[in-house]
Amino acid sequence: MLVTLKEICKIADERGIGVGAFNVPNLEALTAVVEAAEELNAPVIIAHVEIHEKYVPIEVIGPIMIETAKNASVPVCVHLDHGTSLNEIMKALRIGFTSVMIDASSEDYDTNVERTKEIVRIAHGMGVSVEAELGHILVSEKGASEGDVTPNNVNPKDCYTDPEKAREFVKNTEVDALAIAFGTAHGVYAAKPVLDLQRIMEIKKKIDIPLVMHGGSGVSSDEFKTAIQNGIKKINYYTYMALAGADRVKKFLYENRDDDSVQFHDIVMAGKEGMKENVKIAMNTFLMK
Ligand SMILES: [Zn+2]
Repeated sequence: MLVTLKEICKIADERGIGVGAFNVPNLEALTAVVEAAEELNAPVIIAHVEIHEKYVPIEVIGPIMIETAKNASVPVCVHLDHGTSLNEIMKALRIGFTSVMIDASSEDYDTNVERTKEIVRIAHGMGVSVEAELGHILVSEKGASEGDVTPNNVNPKDCYTDPEKAREFVKNTEVDALAIAFGTAHGVYAAKPVLDLQRIMEIKKKIDIPLVMHGGSGVSSDEFKTAIQNGIKKINYYTYMALAGADRVKKFLYENRDDDSVQFHDIVMAGKEGMKENVKIAMNTFLMK
């Protein structure tokens, strides 16, 4: 069933779990994620990222995402991730997305507040939830699907979300969920990330809306669970799922290298199964199992 971000975070809160948000830039990723959620009875967020427009435009995949969500046996939120332009966000709203993220975190604080407020005003008028970002989530060199690569001379700690600023930001914008920076990064980590998990609790004490963790790939299951216990409700997870799909395809092609009957659909199905297995492991962690 199709639900908003606000509703799905409430379900997560009541169950004491986190809810995963997975990018679905192709039909195989979409079916892998929704089947995994149904098999594990997990609420799930399926997301389109603006930067994936080059793989599939929102006009093509968006209506399929909505239809799939409506027909699912578990609560599904259809979310636009890292929306940076009003144009893309308006497209998502028109298609029927139940949640949009406005990412103006690379702007200065006041501009971030103003741009977030504008989207909140439009989206709330349509019954749609809004996520914003405060602080800056780093982007690693390899495999990131959003944002510009963070230069080496940036100290990650300077980008962390300040709890008091977060309180003020939420009060001023009336946003429904907030992505915070505490040491995670988009893409594949070059070294093991050092997470400031304590910071989540400090932010949680100041604001009572769901907190969002981006850059979930490469974080250990213990760290995920602590993050959820400390106040994270939505977890963005994609890179490792996409790598798992590719790994399965490579293995499948190698094993069948002498078989002339392999067709293209066999290859994509192998990729789907690889992604589904990886997503189920992540989901079980978010379900605190
Ligand atoms: Zn992100």
